[in-house]
Amino acid sequence: MAKEFDILVAGGGIAGLTAGLTAARLGRSVQVLTGDVLGGNLLSIEKIEGFPGFADGVAGYELCPITQGQAAEAGAGFAMTEVIELQADGARWNVTDPVETYSAGAVIIATGASIKELGVPGEEALRGHGVSHCASCDAPLLKDKVVAVVGGGDSAAQEALTLAGAASSVTIYCREDALIAKAVYQARIEAHAGIDVRYGTTIDKILGDDVVTGISAGGADMECDGVFIYIGLAPNTGFLNGLLDLGADGRVPVDEDLRSQVPGLFAAGCVRTGSAGQAASSAGDGAAAAIAADAYLEGGTWR
Ligand SMILES: Cc1cc2nc3c(=O)[nH]c(=O)nc-3n(C[C@H](O)[C@H](O)[C@H](O)COP(=O)(O)OP(=O)(O)OC[C@H]3O[C@@H](n4cnc5c(N)ncnc54)[C@H](O)[C@@H]3O)c2cc1C
Repeated sequence: MAKEFDILVAGGGIAGLTAGLTAARLGRSVQVLTGDVLGGNLLSIEKIEGFPGFADGVAGYELCPITQGQAAEAGAGFAMTEVIELQADGARWNVTDPVETYSAGAVIIATGASIKELGVPGEEALRGHGVSHCASCDAPLLKDKVVAVVGGGDSAAQEALTLAGAASSVTIYCREDALIAKAVYQARIEAHAGIDVRYGTTIDKILGDDVVTGISAGGADMECDGVFIYIGLAPNTGFLNGLLDLGADGRVPVDEDLRSQVPGLFAAGCVRTGSAGQAASSAGDGAAAAIAADAYLEGGTWR
């Protein structure tokens, strides 16, 4: 028999956790379904900047469990299950995993986005052996070592600064002729003696047999002990399987109430079109989507 809820939330990042918290506070039965550890991309960030209430920034591994605890306290439930498919069942939606079927009248899609892969030789084989997406996890292992960061946006800049706290030197390999990170990050990178930027560089290969020993770019090999890849984000929408039309950026189009084109389906956080891509805006989205889902369940109307 299906477990019945008012609202299912797909994804347990900051958007999904806040959606769960808000839905529970509105008196809705809500289950947050997430494919991996709750917290999403923020979980591994050493210092989330710009989140209200934390003047000096806050670590993701502190903020996310606090939010999860707050949501649980309010009555939200959690299940570590990856949503493979959303199945329509009349006016309800079902998610089935190997053990359980979860059913609800509304679903908030908050599956976020995953860091893109470079797709070069060595990347897959050396993942966890020097190739990483998590600066805060691996910086302590790279004390006094040489580190390469690939990318040119906010994430690359921010994580290079985290790594520079431990590594002897950090080089950012940027494909373009300039960083696209916000000016505030660019200024910090320029001012940091331990960080160098190489522009117009495309990585061809990650070198090493058992562990990373270097990278190859433009015909030249450079030695390094770790490679951190931040070349953009790909929205996690594969499980939607044509259920709705995605935007040109692959994200879920929504209206001002975060309603998708399909009745009962809402989207929140960086999986939706027009997301500001920040922790604060994603949390705000989660709250707004829960309020809109509550109103939908109350009135049963759509548009
Ligand atoms: C390196 C880096 C540094 C950043 N630094 C900052 C910062 O300093 N300040 C700031 O404001 N923002 C920062 N951001 C942006 C911030 O991480 C995002 O805005 C925020 O994580 C978006 O939250 P979200 O909940 O929408 O998505 P996500 O964090 O991506 O969470 C989505 C969750 O859904 C899960 N999921 C995916 N698919 C499924 C599925 N099919 N079924 C179930 N669960 C699924 C994922 O496993 C994940 O747990 C940074 C991002 C990166 C990558």
